[in-house]
Amino acid sequence: MERVVVVGAGLAGLRTVVGLREQGYAGELTLVGAEPRGPYDRPPLSKAILSGKSDDSALPFDPDRLRVDFRPGVRATRLRGDVVETAGPGETSGPDLDFDGLVLATGAEPVVLPGEGARYLRTHEDAHALRAALRPGATVVIVGAGWIGAEVATAARTVGCRVTVVEQAPTPVAHALPPQVGRHLAPWYAEAGADLLLDHRVAGVGPNAVQFADGTTLRADVVLVGVGVRPATGWLAGSGLELDRGVVVGADLAAGRPGVYAVGDVAARWSPRYGTRVRGEHWDDALRAPAVAVANLLGGAQTYDPVPYVWSEQFGRMVQYAGLPAAGLPVAGPSAESHAGPDLPGTRLVWRGDPAADARWSVFWLGPDARVVAVLAVDQPRDFVAGRRIAESGAAVDPGLLADPAVSVKSS
Ligand code: FAD
Repeated sequence: MERVVVVGAGLAGLRTVVGLREQGYAGELTLVGAEPRGPYDRPPLSKAILSGKSDDSALPFDPDRLRVDFRPGVRATRLRGDVVETAGPGETSGPDLDFDGLVLATGAEPVVLPGEGARYLRTHEDAHALRAALRPGATVVIVGAGWIGAEVATAARTVGCRVTVVEQAPTPVAHALPPQVGRHLAPWYAEAGADLLLDHRVAGVGPNAVQFADGTTLRADVVLVGVGVRPATGWLAGSGLELDRGVVVGADLAAGRPGVYAVGDVAARWSPRYGTRVRGEHWDDALRAPAVAVANLLGGAQTYDPVPYVWSEQFGRMVQYAGLPAAGLPVAGPSAESHAGPDLPGTRLVWRGDPAADARWSVFWLGPDARVVAVLAVDQPRDFVAGRRIAESGAAVDPGLLADPAVSVKSS
């Protein structure tokens, strides 16, 4: 292999070029990134940067030391055979890049609602523009009570904005958590002084208002939309790669064509663990998948199949979740009989602590065989670390012991 091109200079793209050099690749290496800056971390955008604790989240990156031809401000526009076509700043046509190895790391883009002028939060520039708009006393409407919506609400309340969060589902984080769990996140909004409007579907957004599906309008100084992301695959149309809510890759992260791999938010990988396709969408995935893709690109035969992990810092709490998004699962209470869900066999909940009464609690999803399938922890890092480790190992637990918060989480 002599020429590797990496498209997308976010965390996954950076980890790919670092991984290539660490694993001994000595050939030409080009990193193409649409943004005008070097790789940076996105989680701080809705946390430290938005709340003013930090101005920058640049990741350490030395193109000279890594012998990387880094091209910021350059967008890949088309994949044609073994050539990536590019456009430079101002959409001027850029050079064609031919390759014998290609890693796709173009991440994801916010889902856009109908209407012009609302704000979205994905980039460094988005975060700084939003921060400037979050003035004390400003009215802020946030569409979406997911991970990002809650974090923006937290920052906006911290600076003294009047905040309303609008969510079409009956509970927060409904894309990832079933109502039995998500409902325990709802009181946090009122405690922080934010209004939470559940079961409210937004049909359109503008710079200073949202329109609801019933025709009514809610006005605001700032409108921020956080209703999810979709993988940045537009430029791959007609490339011959399989695209289905991401670049479809196997558990080896290969994209069905020799020498082509996808990592991070843009990848839709096959998970033998779950028997289904899994989208990245989380920082941990962008961090860890590239080393496996690189090993396989260089002739290895590794499998990438972790339990997905996401954290969120909201309303003064650390929320950690490991597992497949469990929202669609039929979840039974602890005393009800277990039954298998469509993709994930864990359907029985075991609580540690009482979410209605305790500040710190966790909840475990157990499969019919008492294996830990997923875990959500609120300010319970010990429960989380142990639960995630057990879920990764596929081990079982004693449900009776697990339900006792005075007993440490361990496998049976
Ligand atoms: P990205 O970070 O999206 O990077 C992809 C890069 O590719 C971008 O720079 C993009 O401009 C570029 N690109 C796209 N198309 C092209 C093209 N055609 N040509 C060239 N370049 C292109 N995850 C968590 O687990 N916990 C958190 O608390 C958390 N907080 C977050 C907060 C915010 C505000 C955001 C936006 C995300 C957060 N995430 C969090 C998610 C996490 O940041 C992402 O999963 C991670 O950034 C994915 O990395 P990536 O490299 O795959 O994609």
